[in-house]
Amino acid sequence: MPGPGVFDFLIVGGGLAAAAAVDGIREVDADSTIALITDESEPPYQRPPLSKEFLQYPDVPRSLLYVKPEGWFEEQERVELVTGQKVLVLDPVTMTVTTARGNVFRAPRILIATGGRARQLDVPGHDLEGVYTLRTVEDSEAIREAAIGGSRSVLVGAGFVGMELAASLTAHGVASTVVESQKRVWPRMLPPDLSRWMRAHYEGKGVSFRLDSSIDRFAGRQRVEEVEVGAELLPCDLVVVGVGMDPCDGIARDAGLAVADGIRVDTFGETSHPHIYAAGDVARFPDPVFGGHTRVEHWEHAREHGRLVGRNMAGERVPYELLSYFFSRVFDLSLNAVGRPALADETVFWGEPGEGPCAAFGLSKGRLCAVVLLDAPAELEAGRALVRARVSAELLYDAAGRDLVSLRDLADSATEYRDRDPETGDSNE
Ligand SMILES: Cc1cc2nc3c(=O)[nH]c(=O)nc-3n(C[C@H](O)[C@H](O)[C@H](O)COP(=O)(O)OP(=O)(O)OC[C@H]3O[C@@H](n4cnc5c(N)ncnc54)[C@H](O)[C@@H]3O)c2cc1C
Repeated sequence: MPGPGVFDFLIVGGGLAAAAAVDGIREVDADSTIALITDESEPPYQRPPLSKEFLQYPDVPRSLLYVKPEGWFEEQERVELVTGQKVLVLDPVTMTVTTARGNVFRAPRILIATGGRARQLDVPGHDLEGVYTLRTVEDSEAIREAAIGGSRSVLVGAGFVGMELAASLTAHGVASTVVESQKRVWPRMLPPDLSRWMRAHYEGKGVSFRLDSSIDRFAGRQRVEEVEVGAELLPCDLVVVGVGMDPCDGIARDAGLAVADGIRVDTFGETSHPHIYAAGDVARFPDPVFGGHTRVEHWEHAREHGRLVGRNMAGERVPYELLSYFFSRVFDLSLNAVGRPALADETVFWGEPGEGPCAAFGLSKGRLCAVVLLDAPAELEAGRALVRARVSAELLYDAAGRDLVSLRDLADSATEYRDRDPETGDSNE
């Protein structure tokens, strides 16, 4: 077995959080040595285009997805990018990691930024050809190829993978049926009334839904040909299962770190071991707005958390306080969401969906828990401020009735409101 490669910092995982952590470390410490170890064959790349532009256009090269310009890692003198090596063991006593090829790396500070893997559906036929999940660039390329030769798809789950793929596959001329176990579409991302509107918008584009339904089996001789949903058989050329992801937290659990659906970290990104950190999709961190611990699977969170934890590993001690947002683009709509739309039991609209800039306010027990913006990206910061203030239904009804020029006006009133309310800032869930 080769001797350990010794570095100042080890980063396990090669996604956006890992790449951002390299930047974070460098911002504080220009001279340290860093190794980034990923099991993928590519340097860190952006995943959002995998369900959007990359999937829609046949000739997009992989290098356009790279987080850093092509060749960036090779040009760095003290950053080593190790591709195609899965870390199997993390030893918190010797502060080493061992890869599947038997290579050992050691450092006094280790970051785990291993993200997640797409969840499989455990029903008969899940291993037939033509049944895909989507997490990697290879997955996206395979789905794109199947879409080019196909005409009908079944998408399992009306979350972001199912909803974005329905839009992207429509662009390929592939008709989609989306099967969702809950009673409404995009339940984690949209408050109830916007969810209803979105379903109708999709149906207007030719997408069909089977809500409150589950998959009994995938059928076909070698390749999937149909999907059984209750008494119905849906013929198809391809299936994409988008039922969420599981965090890749196995090495942390085996190392004895605190793990519960993700690696538990404090507000600085430190795990239950003082010199081992976690960031991005895999980390369960203290929620700065809603209280408790949470895990976020969004691009902005991966970038900002990775960077901040990188800085903290290199000697800073800055708490993570961002209320991150999720973005999407489906058909002709842009979406930006902050907060927790899934908690909403009520929706208040500012503007009309599909009629120019619009905001849907999600309320939970009379308090704002989420803002979802349609075609209104400029209102993002105001939306964040409103959710942070957890403003009341009263204020929002008042706003909906007024002819506001921008959400900024409302956010300003919310700040006044918050200043008057001694309870705001407490988690009320
Ligand atoms: C198809 C798709 C579309 C998305 N679209 C959006 C969007 O529109 N908007 C938005 O806000 N967010 C979106 N996201 C979410 C966003 O991309 C993720 O939040 C972000 O990629 C998380 O980054 P990460 O670095 O934490 O994890 P990941 O990107 O999952 O990176 C983790 C890396 O670690 C590697 N790894 C795992 N285990 C090991 C190991 N043991 N050894 C070595 N390497 C390992 C993995 O292979 C992977 O390369 C999308 C995600 C996907 C999959």
